[in-house]
Amino acid sequence: MKLRKVTAASAAVLAITLTATACGGGEKDSDSGSSGGGEKITIGIKIDQPGLGLKTPDGSYTGFDVDVATYVAKELGYDEKNIEFKETKSADRETALSRGDVDFIAATYSITDERKQKVDFAGPYLLAHQDLLIRADDDVKDGEDLNGKKLCSVTGSTSAQNVKKDFAPKAQLQQVGGYSECLAALQSGAVDALTTDDSILAGYASQEQYKGKFKLAGLKLSNENYGIGVKKGDQEMVDKINAALEKMVQDKSWDKAVQDNFGPANYQNEPAPKIGNIVQ
Ligand code: GLU
Repeated sequence: MKLRKVTAASAAVLAITLTATACGGGEKDSDSGSSGGGEKITIGIKIDQPGLGLKTPDGSYTGFDVDVATYVAKELGYDEKNIEFKETKSADRETALSRGDVDFIAATYSITDERKQKVDFAGPYLLAHQDLLIRADDDVKDGEDLNGKKLCSVTGSTSAQNVKKDFAPKAQLQQVGGYSECLAALQSGAVDALTTDDSILAGYASQEQYKGKFKLAGLKLSNENYGIGVKKGDQEMVDKINAALEKMVQDKSWDKAVQDNFGPANYQNEPAPKIGNIVQ
C-alpha cells in the first residue's frame, strides 16, 4: 500500500517534470514562474544595417533579421520581452557562437563551407547578392575591371574575401568593423565603392541623409545565402529553427517582414528560399 503511494507520487513528479521540459523552449536562465520573468534568449544581430539589423536611438531593434529572429525565438518558446539582442560584428560571429555568448545569430550571415567547419546553420531564409554602392554621379559597368578601384568592406565578411580571392585581388581594399563606417569615405571620395550584399546597400542608399547621393551598381557578384548560425553540433536547435522558418514562410509572416523592412528601400528581393537549398 505504502509502496504504491510512493510510486504514484513519483509518477506525478515525473509527469510534471516532463511537462515542464516539453513546454519550456529554452535551456538558459530559467527563472520562470513567480515574477513572470520567463526564459531569456540572447540573439546576435547587426546594429548598423538599416532594413536588416538596426539599433534605433530609443534602444529598440528593427530590420528583417530582427523580425526573423523574433519569429524564431517565439516558436522556440520565448516571449519577445525575454529576447536580448547583442551586436555580433561580421568577424566575431563564429567566436560568439562557440563561446556561447549568443544562442543563435541572425545577422546577414552567409552560409559557407568555411564557416560550417566552426558553426552550424539553419536556413537559408534569404538570398542576396554582392554589389557595389557608388556615388550617384559615378558608374561601374557589368564586367568592368575592379582591380584599379579603392573599395571599402568589412573584416571577416564574404564580401571582403570575395574581393581578395575573386573579383579584384589587386584593388585597394580598406577593411573596417562595420559597413556604416565606409559611408563617410564613400561620400568624401576617399573610396570608390562600398561592397557587400545588395540587401544591405539598398538600406544605406535609401537613408534620409544619403538620398540621391549613392546608388547600387546593380552587379550580382555572388550568391549570399543567409542562414541562422548556431553552435556547432546543436542539430536539435537547427531542426527547430528550420521548422520555425518554414512556418514563417507558410503563414506569410516572411512576406510581411520583407514588405515592412525592404519596402522603404525598394529592395527587389529574391523569393523565399527552400530550407537546405543553397544557391552556389
Ligand atoms: N553576407 C555576407 C557575410 O556573411 C556579408 C554581410 C556581413 O558581413 O554580414 O559575410
